[in-house]
Amino acid sequence: MNKDIFLSNSFGNKKEKFIPINRKNIGMYVCGPTVYDDPHIGNARPLIVFDVLYRVLKCKFGEKAVTYVRNITDIDDKIIQSSNEKKISTNELTTKITKNFHDDCIYLGCEEPSFEPKATENISSMIRMINKLIQKEYAYLNNQHVYFQVKKFKDYGKLSNKNLDELIAGSRVEVSENKKNPEDFVLWKPSKDNEPFWESPWGKGRPGWHLECSVMSKKYLGDKFDIHGGGRDLIFPHHENEIAQSRCANENEVFANYWIHNGFITMSNEKMAKSQGNILKINELRKKNNGQVLRLALISSHYRQPLDWNNDLINQCQNTLNKWYQSYVDLKNPKLVPEEYLDPLYDDLNTPGYIANLHKLFEKSQRGEEKDKEIFVSACNFVGLLTQTKNEWLEGKKSKLDISEKEILDKIKERNKAREDKEYKLADKIRNELLDKGVLIEDTDGKTTWKFK
Ligand SMILES: [Zn+2]
Repeated sequence: MNKDIFLSNSFGNKKEKFIPINRKNIGMYVCGPTVYDDPHIGNARPLIVFDVLYRVLKCKFGEKAVTYVRNITDIDDKIIQSSNEKKISTNELTTKITKNFHDDCIYLGCEEPSFEPKATENISSMIRMINKLIQKEYAYLNNQHVYFQVKKFKDYGKLSNKNLDELIAGSRVEVSENKKNPEDFVLWKPSKDNEPFWESPWGKGRPGWHLECSVMSKKYLGDKFDIHGGGRDLIFPHHENEIAQSRCANENEVFANYWIHNGFITMSNEKMAKSQGNILKINELRKKNNGQVLRLALISSHYRQPLDWNNDLINQCQNTLNKWYQSYVDLKNPKLVPEEYLDPLYDDLNTPGYIANLHKLFEKSQRGEEKDKEIFVSACNFVGLLTQTKNEWLEGKKSKLDISEKEILDKIKERNKAREDKEYKLADKIRNELLDKGVLIEDTDGKTTWKFK
């Protein structure tokens, strides 16, 4: 496809034409999950956003031209705390949560990244990078801790476009008597008794969180690469710190060319937070919803905008997919999506614009021939929708009902009896009860049938 891709670069805060360093070998690094608790809907957003971007890049540059790296943070304070609470080892906890995370990725229809490195498998490279930073005098050792001295890196704050004072004022900076300056951040710290540790020149300890992404992106994508992504909350301090570490250790002017950040998710217009008790886990949503419904909901807003998660959104997406499945056909060979329909995705991943195009293609498929249906299904597949057969979709819906098929038929009998007895109120009540459970009953030609709402 000849069209260019445009992306909103957080670095410089403007929309820019995407020009890869090497169009045959494009690198994208996205900060992955810290595996201390089951992923929630806020974690799902970057998974889907960067999955769609990965698909768009492959469409433009070729299936094999894109390397997508997404790490797993499997050592961290939160992991240690959670495993202590659960009285299991950190390894046991991270193995379990990583598996749950992978199940969620499959449920949401995400393609696998090219590499998925774990922090604990890269500790020796982290120690090497710390050594380099100490040698170059960007980092210092104090009382078994190694800190990065932020003042030594002149471009610190350029990504978030703030100066050091503003950054410190706007965030909770960890206070420690071991630091020379409050803004310095830890590269290595000693492990307490009973905490996991690695041997290092500075004693038994473990790395600071930010370091792993500098090390693992370098390993798979080199000192300088094309796209670095993550949630907006990672801009400061995580991404600022990654830039500082990588640019100083690698002695170069650029770490990543394009910084792409997705917006937050709110829950019925409230901030999602543990203290609010409104954290919605993906595995909870799985009990009631098909993964495609979540996927459509997550791309219904532009990735940079906040997305409000509420029942109306889920119902709307459920209804849209119910409708779209009317045009489902099994694809022997996927059809190419006409270029003009892909336009919104090339323009800063405008997924709402693409969904509008899917609606147009659906209308056409309802009027037109088999070929139009094939194009419609291919266009849905492009963003990971209509990926199940119609049967799987219907069976999936059945399995997520709170009521068995036998119970539905019994209720229908009960309702028919009530209608014969002219007990219309009771009949309506039964009908509404079924509706609440997602079952719609219809009376045609004296016969009652049911279908999914
Ligand atoms: Zn990171």
